[in-house]
Amino acid sequence: MNSAPDQPNLPVLIYIMGTARSGSTILEILLASGKDAIGAGELSELIRDGFIEDRRCSCGELTSKCELWRGVKERVGLADYELENLNRQHRRIDWHLGLARQMLGGINRHEMAVYNDTNQRIIGAIGEMTGCDFVIDSSKYAGRALALGQACPLRVYVICLTRSPAGLMAAFQKPNRGEQLPKSPLKTLFYYLVVSSLLRLAGRQLRNQIMYLRYEELLKDPIGALTRIEKFCGMELTVAKKNIARQLPFDVGHIVTGNRIRKMGQVSFAAESSDPSLTSTSQRAIASLMGAWKSILRF
Ligand SMILES: [Zn+2]
Repeated sequence: MNSAPDQPNLPVLIYIMGTARSGSTILEILLASGKDAIGAGELSELIRDGFIEDRRCSCGELTSKCELWRGVKERVGLADYELENLNRQHRRIDWHLGLARQMLGGINRHEMAVYNDTNQRIIGAIGEMTGCDFVIDSSKYAGRALALGQACPLRVYVICLTRSPAGLMAAFQKPNRGEQLPKSPLKTLFYYLVVSSLLRLAGRQLRNQIMYLRYEELLKDPIGALTRIEKFCGMELTVAKKNIARQLPFDVGHIVTGNRIRKMGQVSFAAESSDPSLTSTSQRAIASLMGAWKSILRF
């Protein structure tokens, strides 16, 4: 990798944190229509999915052929021989247990310095390639929120997106080709207990740079939710509000990793109320346990 240059004009990072199946990809697509904003997908997976596995970007090109990501890789100066190692290092910090490692001193200063440098180069390069002042990262992991949220000189605003236990339970029962596999009710419970606790821990550390948004609030009153986000991070979301009011579609842009709606090219978003009905008694019982844990965590 090249030696680190100063990056005085780093874009602001808008980081969407939450559980899987919480609506992060659709929120990212709405925010990416903001003024001077670009949706970058789940940047925690960019090195693996984009630069190592060369998966297809939502623009239709392979990452190596996509104008944006090819340019980002060149500007960052990432050499192929170092990608596997970097990917491993980033996962140790980004993924679920990465938050515990950071808080318990399991990441040394050198590892954190390399992590910060690489991420800042990638985010800076996205800003340079697109001319955007806001980069949206929908990686969701609490570990990544904490690491980037504390990485000077990056300015990071974290949106913690939560979903009702019943909604999450229903979403995890659906088959989802190729991405997050369905989870049994018990696995959903275990996942929820762990991940919601990590989100809460990260939120405590990032208290001045985090806002909480419920997926159900976004569905019911998207204009109100977007107005809250505008006030929180200074983005202008006029186009998103107009598109929603007029039921116009949103462009998906250049997302390498995200859920399957990224492959649709254009996505429509309509306000609706969400009240999933759970079919089995065990699902309902486990969703109420999740609800109790949610209250304990004060989400
Ligand atoms: Zn692309």
